[in-house]
Amino acid sequence: MNDSQLGNLVRSCIKKHRYPTEQTALEGINRAHKNNSKDELRVYFCKHCLGYHITHKPFIRRKRMLQLKIEKLTNVQTPKKAHDTDAGFDFWLPEDLGYVVQNGKNINIEAVKDGDIIKTAIAIYPQKSVLLPMGIKTEFNPGWSLVFFNRSGLASKKHLFRGACIVDSNYRGEIFVNLTNVSNEKQYLQPGEKLIQALMLPVPRVEVIEAKVNKNTDRGEGGFGSTDKK
Ligand SMILES: [Zn+2]
Repeated sequence: MNDSQLGNLVRSCIKKHRYPTEQTALEGINRAHKNNSKDELRVYFCKHCLGYHITHKPFIRRKRMLQLKIEKLTNVQTPKKAHDTDAGFDFWLPEDLGYVVQNGKNINIEAVKDGDIIKTAIAIYPQKSVLLPMGIKTEFNPGWSLVFFNRSGLASKKHLFRGACIVDSNYRGEIFVNLTNVSNEKQYLQPGEKLIQALMLPVPRVEVIEAKVNKNTDRGEGGFGSTDKK
């Protein structure tokens, strides 16, 4: 490349200070540090002027993925998302019905006809609750929680609703899911069935302050149904 070609390239570059070599650019950084610059500086190669510049932008640090550590206590599927971008992880019931009966609470098993085949299933009676062992212990960072929610089919088809089920980061016991049958019909679950989903949710640190609350908002003290009247 001759000098005039280089001259054109330099003119197409918007940066003021061009260092011909990496070494001279690094010396530039050293001078900046001597002037007490607290910025994080780095040298980069410029494809426009084929020289080197100093930038104040910090290196882009790849954010470490949040980890959900799983310890299996019995034969059970590993929780997973159906799609990468899904909010929830699916959790399955343990494969071993004996394990569920032994470790759960209020578990009744019954023979159920599935076409020509007779299967043993967990029977949940109308208006009754069960406590289902998930065969899994978890570990994850403080500042996060694992919160269980119904999968759409569980609520709409089987009328089984999840009770309180928030796993704190310091809880290291087995995870149990509490389900209540809100229908008037017996509902059945098979061992190994995809049961419920859980979201990793952040836990903000919150300070509770006792004081008079500010009533001057566009809604004020309007209660239940007050926004429907208009
Ligand atoms: Zn440049």
